[in-house]
Amino acid sequence: MSAGSVVILGAGVIGAWSAYFLNRAGWQVTILDQGGFGKGCSHGNCGYVSPSHVLPIPGPKAVRTAIKALLQPNGPFKIRFRLDPALWGWMFRFLRRCTYGDMIRAGHALHPLLQSSRALYEQVIREEKLDCEWQARGLVLVFRTRHGMGEYATTNKLLSEEYGVPAKRLDGEELTAFEPALKPGLGGGWFYEIDAHLRPDRFMAEMRRVLSERGVTILEGQTFREFRRAGHRAETAVTDREELRADAFVVATGAWTPRFEKQLGCSISIEPGKGYSITMGKPARCPRVPLIFEEHRVAVTPLDSAYRLGSTMEFAGYDSTLRRDRLELLKAGAAIYLHEPVGKPVLEEWFGWRPMTPDGVPIIGPSPLLGNVIIAAGHNMIGLATGSGTGKLVAEMLSGEPLHLDPSPYGPARFASL
Ligand SMILES: Cc1cc2nc3c(=O)[nH]c(=O)nc-3n(C[C@H](O)[C@H](O)[C@H](O)COP(=O)(O)OP(=O)(O)OC[C@H]3O[C@@H](n4cnc5c(N)ncnc54)[C@H](O)[C@@H]3O)c2cc1C
Repeated sequence: MSAGSVVILGAGVIGAWSAYFLNRAGWQVTILDQGGFGKGCSHGNCGYVSPSHVLPIPGPKAVRTAIKALLQPNGPFKIRFRLDPALWGWMFRFLRRCTYGDMIRAGHALHPLLQSSRALYEQVIREEKLDCEWQARGLVLVFRTRHGMGEYATTNKLLSEEYGVPAKRLDGEELTAFEPALKPGLGGGWFYEIDAHLRPDRFMAEMRRVLSERGVTILEGQTFREFRRAGHRAETAVTDREELRADAFVVATGAWTPRFEKQLGCSISIEPGKGYSITMGKPARCPRVPLIFEEHRVAVTPLDSAYRLGSTMEFAGYDSTLRRDRLELLKAGAAIYLHEPVGKPVLEEWFGWRPMTPDGVPIIGPSPLLGNVIIAAGHNMIGLATGSGTGKLVAEMLSGEPLHLDPSPYGPARFASL
């Protein structure tokens, strides 16, 4: 299709990157959001642009880890069971994909998207002079126990040999010498030099600035309801305020996307996976690099302007309560590892709904029903880290350009059956 007009539904990181690359390809772009630009899950996440996150959650160890976590009264992983066929269908699909083979295949789907995105962040941040606290300092997976450290050696071998993503092993004092903010006596850590991070809310504000300067129309506080169709094409996007006519559309509505599955003509198996973060002033002994405490599922992001603890995963539907016990869990987990786990003052307490697919792979491709509508959703725990590659792929698909990645693993029709 030659560049015409396009309306992007959803202004999270996926919508924003799609808008950027479509604009660069010559499209006349409008992006709209029911709330504010970048105020969904893309606002308060941990900010990792981490090609090391190749392996999806579904895998041979996922069920054991989940059961263990579910048995903890206030564990980092929670499911609030309810009589909802969408949740049960999602769980059934998830369990079916917890095999070694499926995990490896999903890794091969994610790896090129992560690699391409990492390079595009570096390039676009430099070219557009995005002031977003970008730091290419790597990331350390920290283990409290020697057992956990030893077990991860198998995963490291797999990541090195299968995907070419090796980590440097840091045992005992090597770890505290590398990161003095950590307490002595921990099991060790694995350092991924390739990873980077940024401040997500600053990044989204900068994307907004660049898109405005490039002539993209940004509409906020406007909710998409449905498409008006002519045959196998969408003609307009009907919102609560107006009808927006365009040659093409992109559905980038994150965890909300299943609401449109009838419109899109395929099953959108996405569940909201609720996670939390607390942003604080920097403690005096602030970590130098981002840290993930694997055994307690807490992620630490040292930013230029602040310090963030994040994580936890709760399948509780579209529940919008900010639960204090979940925030406390982050602080308690961090206290096991860090000399100074919290900073002052508390700047923001936040939750977001991750768009979780049962196979851990995003959905990127044309709607089976409407040929001029691209779906770009379901980016799980790595939507920031895979956002730029996704946006570029969306622009290539709509423009009819050669695709820089094989799109077949991301096909929207793959959840047609359980
Ligand atoms: C605690 C936590 C930490 C995380 N850390 C990281 C990390 O370090 N690195 C990483 O890569 N990922 C991380 N993630 C995951 C990442 O945040 C998500 O994958 C990503 O933000 C998803 O982007 P999105 O654009 O698809 O969704 P969103 O950012 O949620 O955007 C979707 C937008 O669509 C809008 N919308 C929905 N319905 C409608 C409608 N009907 N009309 C108009 N607008 C609509 C919403 O308002 C929203 O703004 C983390 C998530 C959490 C919760």
